[in-house]
Amino acid sequence: MTTLITEGGPVTADATVTRIGGVPLAPPGTAWPSCADCGGPLQFLAQFVLDGSGAAVTGGPGQQDRLLALFACQNRPGVCQDWEARSGANLALILPAQGLAPIPLPVPSDPDEGEPDDESDESDEDDVLLLGATRAAEPQLLPEAQNFDSARAAWAARTGRPRNHVLGQLNGTPAWLQYDQTPNCATCAEPMRLAVQLQEGPDHLTAMNFGSGRAYAFTCSPCADAAFLWQC
Ligand SMILES: [Zn+2]
Ligand SMILES: [Zn+2]
Repeated sequence: MTTLITEGGPVTADATVTRIGGVPLAPPGTAWPSCADCGGPLQFLAQFVLDGSGAAVTGGPGQQDRLLALFACQNRPGVCQDWEARSGANLALILPAQGLAPIPLPVPSDPDEGEPDDESDESDEDDVLLLGATRAAEPQLLPEAQNFDSARAAWAARTGRPRNHVLGQLNGTPAWLQYDQTPNCATCAEPMRLAVQLQEGPDHLTAMNFGSGRAYAFTCSPCADAAFLWQC
């Protein structure tokens, strides 16, 4: 059994639903997270509704318990190590599902103090912090599929839609591009469970940057711990 997520069309940027892009939500007063490598603000990637066990919700009302929010640094692609779990250049945050508000964008740094080669203006800076589109991610259960790749092929064949409309999968077994990098929980040291696997997205203008690879977010429910990494 595999649960894919597929391109579900535009959705409100601050919706409390499973989505790629849009604006990050957090308890009021939360500051925009920054990168431990470069000190700059992280890019907001996506959020996923989790149930009480820390698994991604795959449909049906009344299960919303928490949100998983994912961020990664895009200030210096290839330099800040946002592909490494717990590098500080990415962030996987577990939040309560209620009482959240959009995190205000950080104030851009003073242009007079910027580096001489910094040609970015304010709108360019926003582009680095937010994706160019907000997409709903629709769960698609494929009971017969053995793994992500066979599920993706079966879905594309059944619907006639392109394979790149598959945005990833929820829960289940990671389809690694390299070796198994399942992280251990920082609190209990047990192997963590896949909550979501992500593709970059169908449109390169609005895509997440995983070096043309795949990203993986893991949770440990009892400890409310989460970790994020990508491979290419
Ligand atoms: Zn950085
Ligand atoms: Zn744990």
